[in-house]
Amino acid sequence: MGGDALDGTWGQGCGENCFTLDGDGFTCSRVLDEPEVWRVELLMHDTFLPSVNAFVLRDGDETLVVDAGTSDDFNDTRLMRALLGLGVDPERTTLVCTHAHMDHAGLARELTEAGVRAVVPEGVLSDMRRLAVPAWRDEMVARMSAEGVGATESVELADVIWDHAVNFETERIAFSTVAAGEALRCGRWSLEVVPTPGHTPGHCALWEPRTRTAFLGDAVLFLCSTCIGFWGEGEDPMGEQLATLRRLAGTGIERALLGHGLQEGSVAERCLANAAHHERRSARALAAIRETPGQTGFELVPAMGWRAPFDHWAQTPALTRWFLVSESIAHLDHLVATGAVRRERDGAGVNRYVAVG
Ligand SMILES: [Zn+2]
Ligand SMILES: [Zn+2]
Repeated sequence: MGGDALDGTWGQGCGENCFTLDGDGFTCSRVLDEPEVWRVELLMHDTFLPSVNAFVLRDGDETLVVDAGTSDDFNDTRLMRALLGLGVDPERTTLVCTHAHMDHAGLARELTEAGVRAVVPEGVLSDMRRLAVPAWRDEMVARMSAEGVGATESVELADVIWDHAVNFETERIAFSTVAAGEALRCGRWSLEVVPTPGHTPGHCALWEPRTRTAFLGDAVLFLCSTCIGFWGEGEDPMGEQLATLRRLAGTGIERALLGHGLQEGSVAERCLANAAHHERRSARALAAIRETPGQTGFELVPAMGWRAPFDHWAQTPALTRWFLVSESIAHLDHLVATGAVRRERDGAGVNRYVAVG
């Protein structure tokens, strides 16, 4: 396998089933034999997670790439070079993205310009149209202001995150769509597109039932709890994520290929433990609301049990503050959606929370 592609002067081979490039934080290693799957791990900068995975599934001369890695300021060509190193024919290759975040769709352009066919699940396309547009940035500012975040900080936090999603339409990246429940084929393999909402509304996984293999994107990780931010008022992303985690726990996944890091033990156990973790945090928020009725969303953030630097909030990086604020609001939306808490808008247009019953 791959002997022709991996010999000569190219790369710095670390064995038949693994190679690295340039010592720049890149590795490509074979992680499954049946189906044949390679993990391309790309180092990331300026985020909490050290790296992101793209996966290359091969059968015969056909290739399916799951997620397109992260772009950087140096016109990153690592993923394309990995594909070439594996001897992949771009013209016989399909790219599918689990969600539209920059670290999973960032190098789609390089791939499509080389002849790779991009396929976008319909849910991911609707995320692009909703979340990778300036109107979403304005919506985020308005929502954080309504939760009691100061006007300047609301703008700062929205600006630090809103363009982390890629929009293939506005970027003019050619693609076709695939519906939920439909299958993507690669040689003998057929992977079902499974909606896994929570991390984003349209997040999708891919499921290969014969070998019980799943490509899960950021639906669940073993490295950390995946980030759940607010969507629109009246929506319940935390509730969607809890349902996704329970569905995944019952799917019988044996081998999970994740957006970041590797599988470490049982997928079902990890999903249920992550769901319990979120529910503990919601319970803490509810207890804090019971104790002091009428607090704003922003005032409730420290009550949720984050290991966070609330003593020096202003010196904390904006990205950290964004995650804390947005996931806290998602917990409040969940308490409202489940009827545990009532949201009341005060005279200044700020939401205040009161326990029901
Ligand atoms: Zn993501
Ligand atoms: Zn990610």
